[in-house]
Amino acid sequence: MKLREAAQRDERVQIVQTTAKRLVKCEKSGRVIGVVCSTRRSKEQKYFADLTIVADRQASNLRSQYTKHTPVTKSRFWGLELIDAELPNQHLAYGVIGSGPPVLIYQIGLRETRILIDIPNTVHQAASNSGSIADYVQTKVVPDLPTSVRPSVTAALKKGMLRSMPNSWLPSSTNTTPGIEFLGDAFNMRHPLTGGGMTVALNDVVLLNQLLAPEIISSFGDTRSVLKQMRRFHWQRKEYSTSLNILAQALYSLFIADDLQLQVLQRGFNRYIQRGGNCVEEPAGIMGGVIHSPWLLFYHFFAVALYSLSTLMREGYASSLWHMTGAIFQCLHRGTVDIIWSCFLVLFVSVWAVLHHNVPIRSDHYWSTLGRKVRWATLAICAPELLTLFAVMQWNAANISVTEMQDLGEKDWSVVHAFYANARGFMLDAPDYPTFPINAKSIHYLRSTGWIKPLNITRDSIWDRSKADVFAKGFALIQTTWLCIQCICRVIQRLSITPLELFTVAFVLSTLATSFFWVNKPQNVTEPNVITTEWLIADVLKAAGDAAKEPYIDTPMDFVEKPVWQGWKRRPSLLHFSGLTSRPLKRIPNDYSPPPPTGKEALFVWVISVVHAGIHVISWRLSFPTDTEAWIWRISSVTLLLVMIIGGAVPVLSTREWFDFRFNLLCIWIRPARKNTLVRRHVFDFVVDFDYFVYIVARLLIFTEIFLSFRSLPETAYANINWTEFLPHID
Ligand SMILES: Cc1cc2nc3c(=O)[nH]c(=O)nc-3n(C[C@H](O)[C@H](O)[C@H](O)COP(=O)(O)OP(=O)(O)OC[C@H]3O[C@@H](n4cnc5c(N)ncnc54)[C@H](O)[C@@H]3O)c2cc1C
Repeated sequence: MKLREAAQRDERVQIVQTTAKRLVKCEKSGRVIGVVCSTRRSKEQKYFADLTIVADRQASNLRSQYTKHTPVTKSRFWGLELIDAELPNQHLAYGVIGSGPPVLIYQIGLRETRILIDIPNTVHQAASNSGSIADYVQTKVVPDLPTSVRPSVTAALKKGMLRSMPNSWLPSSTNTTPGIEFLGDAFNMRHPLTGGGMTVALNDVVLLNQLLAPEIISSFGDTRSVLKQMRRFHWQRKEYSTSLNILAQALYSLFIADDLQLQVLQRGFNRYIQRGGNCVEEPAGIMGGVIHSPWLLFYHFFAVALYSLSTLMREGYASSLWHMTGAIFQCLHRGTVDIIWSCFLVLFVSVWAVLHHNVPIRSDHYWSTLGRKVRWATLAICAPELLTLFAVMQWNAANISVTEMQDLGEKDWSVVHAFYANARGFMLDAPDYPTFPINAKSIHYLRSTGWIKPLNITRDSIWDRSKADVFAKGFALIQTTWLCIQCICRVIQRLSITPLELFTVAFVLSTLATSFFWVNKPQNVTEPNVITTEWLIADVLKAAGDAAKEPYIDTPMDFVEKPVWQGWKRRPSLLHFSGLTSRPLKRIPNDYSPPPPTGKEALFVWVISVVHAGIHVISWRLSFPTDTEAWIWRISSVTLLLVMIIGGAVPVLSTREWFDFRFNLLCIWIRPARKNTLVRRHVFDFVVDFDYFVYIVARLLIFTEIFLSFRSLPETAYANINWTEFLPHID
């Protein structure tokens, strides 16, 4: 599609071909209110607007007053248009990395091919004119090119067709001036080697369009709101621009590698992408702006580094590397910072990898999504068994949904579909209500009553939407395994383990259980599927009769979704917590996990909780700076264990038919007793609340002791494991 033509077709767009000379600023407020333009034939003319978008390319002359950054240019692309160049494959773009500068070659017309040669500033500053550059290209570049291309390059050089443009790097910055926004190369640049500039610019346009939509910003004259959205723009665009910018700069550094280490990496990179499959598809997806995960980029960087090392080993450095690795293990000094750092790394990465949040809403600010994750991460670290409980409840709900849907004849409905549906994967868009999420229970109801047709979405297509952080998961697994190996080896060699290491091991055991239950839950999905209907929700409610006569609390489908909760209600003070301001709800909060666990599942969580607490008790003989502190640790650990045994038993009992007592789950969900007596109202509720209170106190004391213990660790806590005892001897 031709963008300019498409824009022109919109009747609200008026195109004026002119040159912007300078911006017009309100003297009083400092706000940009328009632009002064002129053409060669006409005199200056002013255009006024509430918001001026500037996209006057990399050499922008309007940018300098409004951004603190200036472009950094270390090289230029010198380009030629080749006629009838013979490429090995006419439809592919080629990158040539040899002893000379990096070169790009790609076809741009039936007979025309473009070649771009990256020449460092040092070279072209030394060259007196483009004639010298032509000599440089002929002698330093042409010999490295494919033989079939060389004649057309020499011919183009002879015609004197060399043109150049700077290759610049310009970081983006938040716009703080009211009335203006920069876009495109005027706003953010990276080396053009990876061709990411237009991809970033177009993504910026899409994001800005969403952030400045009339539903959010009613008038561009409302500068405070516009500036607020600009700040959001700055942070939200990082999701796609970071990967593209880093990739461009990193690949460029690799391609111009002039030291030995980088050359090893360069060779490793070449071999890595020659492996094909994900080794090339995922980096290409990042480069094309289709995949936005910085984690994936991080993963491929590490994968290339490891692959380069293995290439080096295969090239004959195996024994030296082996000895080097042994030497590194032996030389690693274990200090307080190393212990803290390695444990924090495991805790952080495991939490990040294990959290499987529901699909956020599009207008969710980057920081609110992050804040939500941090809240859950904190909960996971303080009480990992609670996260396991949520995962178990969601797993239970997903399995129930699969049974129900398969009974309906929906044989393709899998546990992935069910997890996805319960995580706001499907939104219902009916004419009489704002779009709202429906869960697996509603989908079953609407299918069984014939309101909707079978959903045409496969398990694989849902899984494709999941941006599971494979790298984070792999990294968490490696780090965790490494930590566990170290702890075991330390015990074997009778070396001390610190309380922090013990806490971390206990934590990862619970996390492993959580990961197991969430293994089929799509992770980091950003966009739900929308089911659009022509019928009204009112008709569905009418047809449901008495069952739907109660006013809804969260969505009109409450009458289907809530009965499974068997009387559970969210604490009224939390109904609007965390941005849940409007009804019907737009997002399914992460603690909405219908239904509560069954007896077996509650029992499993109970066992996990007891084992988790038990690990703290096993460490009875851990060494602490004072005896009092040792006893604080021991008492807290035993308390934790008792709390888990007693408090954890209540959810198990609550699944029994005879259990008719008011009871709350994590202080979020409350289930009243059917018979409303004083005893039934308070007995178990009190036990559970007391349990929660004692749990928090014991946990706080354990946390405090973990850190206080670093004041004076026993000497053997710093001693290195003697790995040579375990490593096979290689001569
Ligand atoms: C050789 C090369 C190859 C590339 N390949 C790719 C690729 O494959 N994929 C990709 O995504 N990106 C690629 N890019 C990057 C991409 O071209 C740029 O990032 C993108 O064009 C930037 O868009 P822009 O609108 O900011 O600037 P431009 O595309 O440069 O457009 C700016 C426009 O503003 C006009 N203008 C400038 N000043 C004024 C003024 N004062 N008044 C009025 N008009 C003005 C200019 O005439 C021009 O029409 C490549 C870049 C280069 C140099």
